[in-house]
Amino acid sequence: MIVIEAKLKGTQYQYSKLDEAIRTGQFIRNTCLRYWEDNKGVTRNDLQKLCSVLAENKETPWAKKLNSQARQAHADRAWSAIWRFYKNCRLGKTGKKCYPKYKNFSRSIEYKNSGWKLSADRKQITFTDGFEVGTMDLWSSRDLVWYSEKQISRVRVIRRADGYYAQFLVDWDRREEHEFQGKMVGIDLGLKDFHTDSDGNTVENPRYLRKSERRLKMLTRRVSKKHIKGKKQSNRYRKARKALAKQHLKVSRQREDKARKDALALVKSNDLIVYEDLKIQNMVKNHHLAKSISDASWYQFTQWLQYFAKVNGVIVIAVPPHNTTVDCSCCGAKVKKTLSTRTHRCSSCGTVLDRDHNAAKNILAKGFKLLTEYLNSTVGHTESDLKKVKAQGETDLWLKNSDGLVLNRLDELRTKNSWESPAIPR
Ligand SMILES: [Zn+2]
Repeated sequence: MIVIEAKLKGTQYQYSKLDEAIRTGQFIRNTCLRYWEDNKGVTRNDLQKLCSVLAENKETPWAKKLNSQARQAHADRAWSAIWRFYKNCRLGKTGKKCYPKYKNFSRSIEYKNSGWKLSADRKQITFTDGFEVGTMDLWSSRDLVWYSEKQISRVRVIRRADGYYAQFLVDWDRREEHEFQGKMVGIDLGLKDFHTDSDGNTVENPRYLRKSERRLKMLTRRVSKKHIKGKKQSNRYRKARKALAKQHLKVSRQREDKARKDALALVKSNDLIVYEDLKIQNMVKNHHLAKSISDASWYQFTQWLQYFAKVNGVIVIAVPPHNTTVDCSCCGAKVKKTLSTRTHRCSSCGTVLDRDHNAAKNILAKGFKLLTEYLNSTVGHTESDLKKVKAQGETDLWLKNSDGLVLNRLDELRTKNSWESPAIPR
């Protein structure tokens, strides 16, 4: 699977119609969620049926305008939120955070393989459902000409600060020839450096957000100055808000770009990569570290790492972060450190290493052990078991869905050995 993105060019009227479609998708998702809350034992199938009921309902005429498969896609969005909640419950995670939320500001609408049509030269798209958006131009640096319409299984329209975009999910297995490097590496994701590998090499932390922070602050101030409480907002306010949103967009694009390039470089020069599965969401809660962590964009980095690994046929393993900083990578003795201790000094074997370098070595060893255990284990899952897991685990992230079988298995292995409480059998 690959995702090709193109900017949508059209008239104000067309944009407003797209907004209507986005609102309708949100309406369907929220209604499904409410239905699930109000009734017991609701299944995915029930939500799909609810879609057609909504379409026939005279009180919600907009639901009928949306393409029927798009309606289903949004029922699926609700279902995936519900499913994630159930999964978290099984893993023992509870609390407000896991509970499915209603959406008020959806930015996207998803079509499956109907409701839209591409022109012969692939430079235009026509939306054919009841919103009558019509034909819009596609601006993209990548060519859609190489793919048939059948290969495109989903089209997602996204509203961003600087316009509307269409993402095409193309069913095409991207494969690249990986030259065997004879190298394996463990990486420690850090704050001082973006990451340190087990050979002691470091990659600098970009800190784009810090650099743009001054400008963001200024723009935020401008927005709040122009805000009038309890009244209709002025044009000046709306302009200021747009400028702020654009600055945020710029920073997030810079981050994404850096994460992608770093991940690709790492995959190209190694055959086996092990990283630490930091529970980033938990760490962001820690306010002192929060900004630097989000800034460092570890999450995007690990996502790209997994994607490129699959494309290039390289093994990537995530290991739980237990004791990787404390253990001595040479003799295994425990050496306690505070957050500010930058050097690892082992009193048992005399090893002196940079703190992150030591951790990276531990991470590599852990990953290697996990891989050995997996390869030596005789108990495995059947292929159909794995398919079932995959079908349920629909996420918002397309890349995640297309992870290879091997990764999936390792993923399961990891959960079993990890710090989380064991799954409660259904
Ligand atoms: Zn030691």
